[in-house]
Amino acid sequence: MARPAPFPALVVGCGVIGLTSALELQAAGVEVTIAARELPPATVSNVAAAFWYPYAVLPPERCLPWAMESLGVFREHALDPASGVVLCRGIELVPPGGRQPAWLLSLPGARPARPEELRPGFPAGIVFEAPLVETSLYLPWLMARFRARGGRIETADFAGLEQALARSPLVIDCAGLGARELARDPSVFPIRGQILRVARGAQGTFAVSHGLDGGATYVIPRSQDCVLGGTRGDGVDSLAPDPEESADILRRTAELAPAVLGAEVLGLLVGLRPGRPSVRLEVERLPAGRVIHNYGHGGAGVTLSWGCAREVRRLAL
Ligand SMILES: Cc1cc2nc3c(=O)[nH]c(=O)nc-3n(C[C@H](O)[C@H](O)[C@H](O)COP(=O)(O)OP(=O)(O)OC[C@H]3O[C@@H](n4cnc5c(N)ncnc54)[C@H](O)[C@@H]3O)c2cc1C
Repeated sequence: MARPAPFPALVVGCGVIGLTSALELQAAGVEVTIAARELPPATVSNVAAAFWYPYAVLPPERCLPWAMESLGVFREHALDPASGVVLCRGIELVPPGGRQPAWLLSLPGARPARPEELRPGFPAGIVFEAPLVETSLYLPWLMARFRARGGRIETADFAGLEQALARSPLVIDCAGLGARELARDPSVFPIRGQILRVARGAQGTFAVSHGLDGGATYVIPRSQDCVLGGTRGDGVDSLAPDPEESADILRRTAELAPAVLGAEVLGLLVGLRPGRPSVRLEVERLPAGRVIHNYGHGGAGVTLSWGCAREVRRLAL
């Protein structure tokens, strides 16, 4: 039985990191309020593809265990069709000179791809099962769970941590890219990402490939569309669509999955991932109270969310 917390907590941020942190604290008996400048569907988390895969995030020795812990939670959520989480079998295609990640091969059911499963130009591959998290469904589902347990969600724009601490002596900082100003952390930077939504068509499984330059190409089928990505602009903070990047995405994804060739383009999304040299997940003690920072998840906020939220819970109690 969880020991009740002595005072309520304020979670700043209502993206996937804020919502999962809030739900974990609630499960431990803490009275939680979420306050955020933007609520779904206006968060970066809504732009996420969102494919379970630790990408563009550091350090691996902390992120991999968080990802694995989250994987177990997503498997449970996939049992509820309303969650927007499905388990899907797909393939990682490895380019010439690329590495086959050992952790990926160690997933239950993962195996090296057979020659007939590979695509021209990709000498190796790994077939595995991963959660696909449709954030337009998943975030409202999390919000509904949070509210059903008595949680409050409100809009608020905090100029600094002192303002948040004036509301509660325990603040969970899940401000994503906004932590740059909120926590006055200059090491936070945007990682621009652009994706295309196309008609789902014949594509039934995911395909992903990681280039030697650190970029990723992916085809993610969802319930109403198929996501084609992606791009990675470290330090780029423009939300303007880039037509040249779109053309490049279409070219690269067709190499992974020819079924997307000629698919009707339904839309284009751009988001700024919250980059940082390493995820910040730690307690800071300030005169007015405690802050637990949980931000800087780069291209893997959805992937790491539940593992990080459980660490927030351990740190809070
Ligand atoms: C194109 C693209 C594709 C992606 N694909 C994937 C994927 O396949 N898998 C994956 O795991 N991840 C993916 N990501 C990364 C993922 O979207 C992020 O890591 C994740 O959304 C970060 O979540 P967050 O809750 O920290 O941030 P956000 O969703 O940005 O939420 C931050 C919250 O903090 C609030 N806030 C900020 N500052 C303040 C303030 N001063 N006062 C009050 N509130 C404030 C905001 O309003 C918001 O509510 C992708 C990202 C992009 C852009």
